[in-house]
Order: sequence, then C-alpha cells, then structure tokens
Amino acid sequence: MARHLITSAIPYINGIKHLGNLVGSQLPADLFARYQRGRGNEVLFLCATDEHGTPAELAAAKAGKPVAEYCAEMHEVQAKIAEGFRLSFDHFGRSSSDANHKLTQHFAGRLADAGLIREVSETQMYSHADGRFLPDRYIEGTCPNCGFDSARGDQCDNCTKQLDPVDLINPHSTISGSTELEMRETKHLYLCQSQMKDQLEQWIDTREGWPVLTTSIAKKWLNDGDGLQDRGITRDLDWGIPVKKGDQDWDGMEGKVFYVWFDAPIEYIACGQEWVDAGKGTDWERWWRTDKGADDVTYTQFMGKDNVPFHTLSFPATILGSGEPWKLVDYIKSFNYLNYDGGQFSTSRGRGVFMDQALDILPADYWRWWLLSHAPESSDSEFTWDNFQASVNKDLADVLGNFVSRVTKFCRSKFGEEVPAGGDELPVDQAFIDQLEANIRAYEQFMEDKEVRKAAGALRAIWVMGNEYLQEAAPWSTFKEDPEKAAGQVRFALNLIPLYAVLSAPFIPDAADKLLEAMKVDAQWPGSAADAVKRLPAGHAFAVPDNLFGKISDDQREEWQERFAGTRD
Ligand SMILES: [Zn+2]
Repeated sequence: MARHLITSAIPYINGIKHLGNLVGSQLPADLFARYQRGRGNEVLFLCATDEHGTPAELAAAKAGKPVAEYCAEMHEVQAKIAEGFRLSFDHFGRSSSDANHKLTQHFAGRLADAGLIREVSETQMYSHADGRFLPDRYIEGTCPNCGFDSARGDQCDNCTKQLDPVDLINPHSTISGSTELEMRETKHLYLCQSQMKDQLEQWIDTREGWPVLTTSIAKKWLNDGDGLQDRGITRDLDWGIPVKKGDQDWDGMEGKVFYVWFDAPIEYIACGQEWVDAGKGTDWERWWRTDKGADDVTYTQFMGKDNVPFHTLSFPATILGSGEPWKLVDYIKSFNYLNYDGGQFSTSRGRGVFMDQALDILPADYWRWWLLSHAPESSDSEFTWDNFQASVNKDLADVLGNFVSRVTKFCRSKFGEEVPAGGDELPVDQAFIDQLEANIRAYEQFMEDKEVRKAAGALRAIWVMGNEYLQEAAPWSTFKEDPEKAAGQVRFALNLIPLYAVLSAPFIPDAADKLLEAMKVDAQWPGSAADAVKRLPAGHAFAVPDNLFGKISDDQREEWQERFAGTRD
C-alpha cells in the first residue's frame, strides 16, 4: 500500500474564499486525496487556516473583535464551508495552534544554530500613542504625488504610486489617529536564503517531473537579478508567534513575532501534530520524519502559482537549513488563475461567486465538476455562466444522470428492482470492453499524474460509452421482440452504474454515494473492465435513485449572472 501525504495551500483567515481560490488548491488536493484513498492507499490530507499577519489584525479591528476571537470564528466558518464542498481533510488545523508555535520557534532555533539567521537594523514608523511600530497598512496620510488624503504607507490607492511611509504628508496612525509618529530603529531577523542558493538549486534539480510552471518560477527567483535574497522573518506586531530560539528567549527580540510567511508553511507539519492532538491519528512523525518512517511517503502539495516561490524555496530553505530529517515535498502541483466572467474575481467588490454563495444556490457536486473539469492548469481559465450551465446540463444531467435514470427506470418497469437474469452473458463485443479498459486505465494515469482536466475528460468519455451503448442496444425495442436479450442488455447497463460511481467519486462524491447506495454495493476500485461489468449478479436487488442532477434553466443562469456581477460590500 502506497502512502500519500497531501497538503493544500492554507487559505488566509480574513474572509470567505472565492471559487478561483478553491480550484487553485483545496479542490484539486481533495480530488487527489479521494482518488488515492479509492485506490486503497494510505492518505494523510492536511489543510489549515493561515491566521497571522496584519490583514488578520485589520479584519478583526473592522469586525470590532479581538483578533484571536475573530480568527477562531473565521476558522469555524471556513471549516463549515470546506465540509459543504466535501473537502475530505484528515485535519483542518490552524496556524495559530500551540503545535505551530512550538515548531516555528524550534525551526528558528535550529536555523540560528546553523548560522542561517542574521540580525538587521531597520528604521520603521513608531507611534507613541499606540505604543507600537506601525506596519505600512497602519499608516495613512496625503499622497505627495496626487494629493489623495488616504494614501497608505506602502501605496496610494488613488494614483497607485508605491510609497514609503516617510513620503506621506501629515502621516497618522490608522489605529488611534495619532500624528505623533517617528522613525525609530528596530531590529529584525533575516533568513539567509542567499547562503542556501546552491543547495536549493541542487535539490530542485533532483525533483522529477515537476510542471514547467513550478520549476520556471523557482529558477527565476533563484537566479534573476542578484539571485535569491535573504528575507525578514520577524515583525513588530502583537498577533503572531513570539520570536524565540526553541524554548529560549531571543535577546533583543522581545515583543516581536515571526513574519507570517515563515510560520504558515511550518503549519503543514504542525497540522499533523494537531491531527494527533485531536485524536484522529496516533503517529504524525511517520508522515513527516524520514528517520521515523516517512521514507516511503510521497508528499504532494497543491497551490496557486503565486505561492510557488514560498514552497519551492523559502519553506525548503527552512527545512534543509534545520539539518533535521524532515520530509521534503516530492511534487508541487501549481495552478494558474481562474477568472470570472470577463474579468477577475474581486473580494473587495464582491465580484464573482464566493464559496458560501455557491453552496447556497447549488450542491457541491455541480461546482466540483465544473471547476475541476475546467481547472486552470496550462493557462488561466474563465468561469462564465453560459459555460457552467452548458457543462452541468450536458455532462452531469444529460450524460451521467440520464443514463442512470433510463436504465434503472426501464429495469424497474419491465423486470422489477433487481438485476434481471437471461440473455447474453456479455451483450457487447470485445472492442467495447477493450475501449472501456483503455479509458479506465487512461483515467487512472491522468489521476496519478495530477492532470486534472484530462482526468475529467477521460471520466466523461467513460460516461458517454454507457449512453451510446443504451442508444445502440435500445433494450426498450429489444424487449418487444426478445425479452431475454433485453434482460442481458439491462444487466450489462446496470453494471456500469457502480463502476461509474467508484470512478466518479473523487469528482462528485455525493452523487457517487447516492449511486452506490441505490445499487446496494460497496465502493471497490475496478480491476479489469471485463470483471467490473459482471459485478452485479442476476437477482441482485437495487433501488431506482432519485434524480441525480437537475438542469440549470436560462432564467436561473440570468439571475445568477446578475446577482454575482459585483455589489457585495
Ligand atoms: Zn496618489
């Protein structure tokens, strides 16, 4: 039995994600996890919320809540939505967990011991009234370029000019409004990634079969300009993981926290510990430590392309730099962006469909199927309501749903709700079985290769075979002349249903469950196609399932298109 460790990029805590976020990490990770479980392999699938940093503090302030309370609430909201989409995490953790605090501090200590952390003195805006340093987003003033009076410390939203807080005219704190600000010296820790450039490049060169999108981004960061840069790993913030060297205090770092980019990927590992702490597992180290059993684990990460630099360089730098035998990623599957109806999804303008809204209007399977079968793999892709309607109505309702409905209802009306006896043992020629076999094996290979769209295409081809068979064999006509022969045809077609359910489960788990329940069989991955189509013997009882998929009407399409065009504040 193969062992698969799977992680999805961890979503940021401040708000509900849109469908583009979903299809860029969590959903394809879930597809792969479900597939590997379906094959009988051992899987640990982890995800979490990314909870530290200024945006979380600001969102909490806007919501009028303490940041810890805000994060706890938003974590629950995101966990519930993930459940709604049937994301089958073995654990959905939190980067603010105790486990991540300890592990992040541990890594920082190991890196310091290895000489891979240096101190840097910087000047930053300090607010007397607030008693703290202010990150860029906490400072506003008048733009020296255009005169806009609410320019932020890092950028003017009016003229888009990049700014330094000292450039602002009449700068003030957005927390207290105080103008008593001064530039003060502050010390920060930097991870010496530049020292690790060769080691990282060598490691990347040993990774086999990574997508071009992944390696080209990594190589660009390694070699462009002055090459890989050292990065600050601390911030002057309250909310975050206190800077410590293992369990020891760090001189001069009192009151500072680790920068969110440093602690967020470490949460992948800490999440394994949370999984054990939650009583769902017993041994996380056999997944994460190559000296404790993780040698035979295949570790796959899923993420949007914007996250690739952190996962190919910064996180591996943390792991390699620690000198400890942590499991490194074997394969990074990265995605381009999903656009929305002629533009981009926009959280601030509420443009596009957000995960909670999606589930309000249609069940998870509809979204899962469309998103995965249109995943932005080789290039950006675009959600349009026309395409969504056409794809759902055709693939799910006309092809799969209609096949199941026709064969089960016809059987019930002529032979009752059990698999009929009689007729040919196998009422198709060898070419049909060979084609089915080839399609199943192609589907498996695409799934192994994480070729999401191609896997969806192969699955659709398998569904289509059933419809074409029914059309050609036409048991309703055969029945009039030769009921025995029709029985053989119906038995064959009924046997395709459990096969479809098992193969389709990674894409549309709810429909798959319904089909298995109706056919009264367990999930069992098909061996040969020839065996799979004889699984249900004559006399096996089943129940006609409820309509699997409804069609999206033109009225619905138009209403939704208007509703999600961008008004949400
Ligand atoms: Zn401006």
